[in-house]
Amino acid sequence: MASAAKKKGPVEKIALQCTECKRKNYTTEKNRRNNPDKMELSKYCPFDHKHTLHRETKIK
Ligand SMILES: [Zn+2]
Repeated sequence: MASAAKKKGPVEKIALQCTECKRKNYTTEKNRRNNPDKMELSKYCPFDHKHTLHRETKIK
């Protein structure tokens, strides 16, 4: 009874890849049901030393 420890949902882990240097600087989770499209966020890239556009990409 009450062994629902693992919830299966539409949430998946993604990486955010810098569109300038192509490095994967961030990982996050997103709900595929709420965000079916690719996410694009302005984030700070420590390699470019500035905010750049980061695009969602898959984690292996
Ligand atoms: Zn970068």
